Amino acid sequence: MFWDKSAETIDRSALEKLQLTRLQETVGRVLKHVPFYQQQFAQAAIPSDVIRELADIRRLPFTTNADLRAQYPRGFLVGDGGGPVRLHTSSGTTGKPKAIFFSRGDIDRAANLAARCLVMSGNTDRDILQNMMTYGLFTGALMMHYGAEKVGMMVIPAGPGNSEKQLLLMQDFSSTVFHTTPSYALYFADFMEKKGVDPRRDLSLKRAFIGAEPYSEETRRKIEEAFGIEVYNSYGLSEMNGPGVAFECAAKQGMHLWEDHFLMEVLDPVTNEPVPEGCPGELVLTTLCREAMPLIRYRTRDITSVVAEPCSCGRTHRRIRRITGRTDDMLIVRGANIYPQQIERILMSVPGVGRNYLICLSGLDEMTVKVELSASEFDGRVERLVHLQTQLTERLRAEIMVKPLVELVPPGSLPPSEGKAKRVIDNRAL
Ligand code: ADP
Ligand code: ZN
Repeated sequence: MFWDKSAETIDRSALEKLQLTRLQETVGRVLKHVPFYQQQFAQAAIPSDVIRELADIRRLPFTTNADLRAQYPRGFLVGDGGGPVRLHTSSGTTGKPKAIFFSRGDIDRAANLAARCLVMSGNTDRDILQNMMTYGLFTGALMMHYGAEKVGMMVIPAGPGNSEKQLLLMQDFSSTVFHTTPSYALYFADFMEKKGVDPRRDLSLKRAFIGAEPYSEETRRKIEEAFGIEVYNSYGLSEMNGPGVAFECAAKQGMHLWEDHFLMEVLDPVTNEPVPEGCPGELVLTTLCREAMPLIRYRTRDITSVVAEPCSCGRTHRRIRRITGRTDDMLIVRGANIYPQQIERILMSVPGVGRNYLICLSGLDEMTVKVELSASEFDGRVERLVHLQTQLTERLRAEIMVKPLVELVPPGSLPPSEGKAKRVIDNRAL
């Protein structure tokens, strides 16, 4: 099923033509309205008609997170009649917020992209979406909400947290879909278990959209098993509309990135050169249709790679693989480069491990990984726990080249997260 079949299955040459026209329009727009880009182009002596073909994108300057903060609050706003009608800010996981503006048309386009994602993953107007993402300044809940309403789904704008109420709504209104972060999905699975709820028996859930923070295939499987559902990976960022930038189809082999709205590059974050197709690099995105706040070559800092093969679903928009981390998530511990996700992948693949964990760095370079046990393991015999601890320590050491101290803690004892999870506490005396 398609939401917009001609756009989703457009042939590559027509898509590239469309991208070129839209890129030229976008460059024209920022040069007319945004002093930041006027200066950048002038400084690098880039002519205004620089874009003759798509490859010319590489002659354009980058836009970084720091630029967005430096231009806060209104530096990137195009104020030419077309809007804005809305302000959002990024959730600020990495510092001061960034202001993102939307025109009426921008909101409508974002909703249509979310609708593509929802229909692509099997939703119809008979589905009921319990939207557990944060409403408000964060784009996470609203854009998916609008998309679902376009599809004709019934939306329950539950917002995050308050697990008692979530469960009540889920039971009483037979929600078929939920949308949340991986950390809250796992926390909620624990909550249901404690309440003696068997989702396969007591609930009507079929699928979930999980995103807003990195997670592994192992975590996907854990969520799928706990709820008896299909989990679809959902990727987006406020700077590019919020959710609905890239999303999995039924094949669940990477996320289709809507290339008629975003021009994607995957670059080596150090040399800024494109990586060979299929190799990991930093995702850099240029908006192709944004009115109120077009962005050129925005450095997402998210690390991914492109799936080269065409997809069996018939969509021609290329897929990106699961985000493996952010360039600025990387921890350096005793000289080793470590991404929290490497640790998560190991933890979630070992039976007996529960659903929450925390990485604590202290002293000079000491790493402690606190791991919740699963409910069944908690009553286990001491020898089994010692075995589990040794097994985790060894597997982590083999993966990250640093031997951490593994601390097993009771289920539910680590702080739960409602919005984005904080996985690392860094108290090192550096
Ligand atoms: P920020 O966290 O920078 O304040 P956002 O709230 O817009 O801003 O979050 C966007 C970021 O969340 C992305 O750049 C990415 O790092 C992360 N993210 C979103 N969806 C996913 C996903 N499915 N997998 C991994 N990371 C994701
Ligand atoms: Zn597909």
